[in-house]
Amino acid sequence: MNILIIGSGGRESAFAWKLAQSKQLSKLYIAPGNAGTSQYGTNVPLAVTDFAGIADFVLGNGIDMLLVGPEEPLVKGIHDYFLNRADLAHIPVIGPQREGAQLEGSKDFSKQFMARHGIPTAASRSFDQDSLEEGLAYLETQQLPIVLKADGLAAGKGVLICETLEQAKAELRAMISEAKFGDASRVVVVEEFLRGIELSVFVLTDGDTYKILPSAKDYKRIGEQDTGLNTGGMGSVSPVPFADSAFLDKVEQRVIIPTIDGLKRDGIPYKGFIFIGLMNVAGDPYVIEYNVRMGDPETESVLPRIESDLLDLLQGVATGTLAERSFTLSPKTAATVMLVSGGYPGDYVSGMQIDNIESVKESLVFHAGTREENGVVKTAGGRVMAVTALKDTLFEALQQATADAGRIYFEGKNFRRDIGFDLI
Ligand code: AMP
Repeated sequence: MNILIIGSGGRESAFAWKLAQSKQLSKLYIAPGNAGTSQYGTNVPLAVTDFAGIADFVLGNGIDMLLVGPEEPLVKGIHDYFLNRADLAHIPVIGPQREGAQLEGSKDFSKQFMARHGIPTAASRSFDQDSLEEGLAYLETQQLPIVLKADGLAAGKGVLICETLEQAKAELRAMISEAKFGDASRVVVVEEFLRGIELSVFVLTDGDTYKILPSAKDYKRIGEQDTGLNTGGMGSVSPVPFADSAFLDKVEQRVIIPTIDGLKRDGIPYKGFIFIGLMNVAGDPYVIEYNVRMGDPETESVLPRIESDLLDLLQGVATGTLAERSFTLSPKTAATVMLVSGGYPGDYVSGMQIDNIESVKESLVFHAGTREENGVVKTAGGRVMAVTALKDTLFEALQQATADAGRIYFEGKNFRRDIGFDLI
């Protein structure tokens, strides 16, 4: 099979690494990819939302399957674009159509979905310009802290946790009336604050049945001990020690089954990954968010633990035969440490030469924001590379990944040395 992966981050590098191991793979392409993905396939200089360009490439190169990494093309309807074109409709796309992608593209949609199907989540109400005054009055009746969420995609920045009533009122006004997050905050979900530990559970579905992939925990803050600004993710571990079988059984019964059934009952076709962000509140799972694709950097910890052929599972999704496929998991623990550019998540400089990648012998290196220039690998983004170690114990995996993160060099390099150590 010839596969085209859409995206350019560490997640897509991990997909490329994994699919390149499949005996069923003929040719692998990554659009646009990065300096690392070219080890596993051919990079194609196309933007992830250039649907017409992607379509031409697919038809011109005998592509048999499209695997969509990031949310933006899904929310913008890349899958619908393929289905609506007679010359492309037969090519499977892994990732939901626009309607299913609303689970991530609209927090209001996902809250309504959860309410309709009895899926545990924080109590909430949504407000817009017409109901702003009602929203301000509602805030006065709520406990603090309170969570405000821009309805639409806001590059991971649209969630505010407000500690005071004044702050919550000012932010609700700014989001709705002053378009603090542009169109994304035209509607705002006001949500109860949940106290607990977060983790992510990943599900692959063909719309009928599902497979539960390994769970993971990610680390979002830039600073050690979870301090400082939020980032796209500074590291991850899989499995999550506190997600034992009793907890995961609750997740399956209360969240996963009602989610898959709910999609069916609502008549929403869904072929792809569902990333369920959960809060473990005193042993009970509550959904914080759905994402309609794999996470980054969770994918870099999750995929190395899948021992069997990922392409076989994806074919099961494409052909509606996922129930007939099985997969095996490594009992080992994966730990991922992300190398980022100096200054990130604020302003940072790109174009720094990256050295000593080859000195990493015992971890996997997944490129993210990198590009190649005359044979030299340079930084080209905030999050530059993910270093993943797979070991018998969490402690060994963390030590190895952290040590190997230290071996790679570029000017301004930053990484967290405490990823996962809170779980030991
Ligand atoms: P989201 O974009 O919905 O994942 O929210 C971003 C982050 O905000 C989450 O990863 C949580 O750390 C936090 N968060 C979101 N909703 C809540 C909530 N209801 N209670 C506590 N923390 C939350």
